[in-house]
Amino acid sequence: MTAAAPAPRAALDDIPAYVPKPPQPPAVGEFHRLFLNENPYPPLPSALSAIAEAAAQTNRYPGILPDRLVDALARRLDVPLDHVVTGPGSVGIYQQIGQAMLSPGDEVVYAWPSFEAFPIVVKMAGAVPVEVPLRGEAHDLDAMAAAITPRTTAVLVCEPNNPTGTAVGAAALKRFLDRVPERVLVVLDEAYVEFHRTPGAPDGVDLYRDRPNVMVLRTFSKAYGLAGLRVGYGVAHPRVAQALRKCAVPCGVGRVAEEAALAALLAEDELFERVDRITAERERLATALRAQGWPVPASATNFLWLPLGARSSAVAAGLEQRGLLVRDFPGAGLRITVGTPDSNDLLVGVLEGLTAVR
Ligand code: PMP
Repeated sequence: MTAAAPAPRAALDDIPAYVPKPPQPPAVGEFHRLFLNENPYPPLPSALSAIAEAAAQTNRYPGILPDRLVDALARRLDVPLDHVVTGPGSVGIYQQIGQAMLSPGDEVVYAWPSFEAFPIVVKMAGAVPVEVPLRGEAHDLDAMAAAITPRTTAVLVCEPNNPTGTAVGAAALKRFLDRVPERVLVVLDEAYVEFHRTPGAPDGVDLYRDRPNVMVLRTFSKAYGLAGLRVGYGVAHPRVAQALRKCAVPCGVGRVAEEAALAALLAEDELFERVDRITAERERLATALRAQGWPVPASATNFLWLPLGARSSAVAAGLEQRGLLVRDFPGAGLRITVGTPDSNDLLVGVLEGLTAVR
């Protein structure tokens, strides 16, 4: 076609694609998806039956909001109903935040590298990203606090951090939150919180209870193993939560997704056995890779970070050839999701052979 198409908003020119290029599976043979921090295990039988039952009613719209799920979450988290927000994945809630809370020209402070949706959400709203480099592999909370100006309207904190897997811990996070002015919204993204069950791990919901400017985001995509159904949730001050609901896509959480999430909440004990398996595998994998000489920072998530700098793309390519699809951050490092023991064994074996590029 030669005719000029209508011009999208200029603000979009500068917005990166969410995942630049998914890794390519080999033409033949098995491959292992270790690039999206998914749960390697299928949904539990109870979630699968809830899915099948709900599927039979998909000729009907779900509620404007997933009311049953909101109710279950409010009880589980011990918060009032009108503090709960939901969306099609927590990325869906980020879009609500962008629409409801950010205006053109606002400054939004976040660490970098961190969750790759951050610059997208901020720029989409016409706001200005203020990226604060990590110190080593962790948040530099002092520098983040210092980056807040009178134009800052939000701070985005991913705890534990994606892609580095690091956690700052409850005490440091509290000290940081105490330095953020009350007019600034803090989005505490706890997508991986269930994998961080050590003493001293912060619980964002407790932090939000005392701080009206703190909201917490969580997801059913990781520990709960329902990434394919797209359910995210969060808690926020009712003034913020109400604004977010105004910007939510109506019926944005489908009926099947809602029922599966409810079933997963009820089956939490079983799910947490899997979470324990994944965190045990994470430690086994980290120990094996460190023994090979790879630099692997401690992870509080379901993935490991290899800060390989300029060598990261070569190592990613070597892994890809053997069907191990990992997430390359060119020039920075590799993020490798903890998989099943079989995937992890293969990974250890292949990385052993790649130590020349280490
Ligand atoms: N936050 C972080 C930090 C993530 O890593 C991810 C997924 N990669 C998400 C949010 C999005 O999760 P969801 O599937 O709920 O949209």
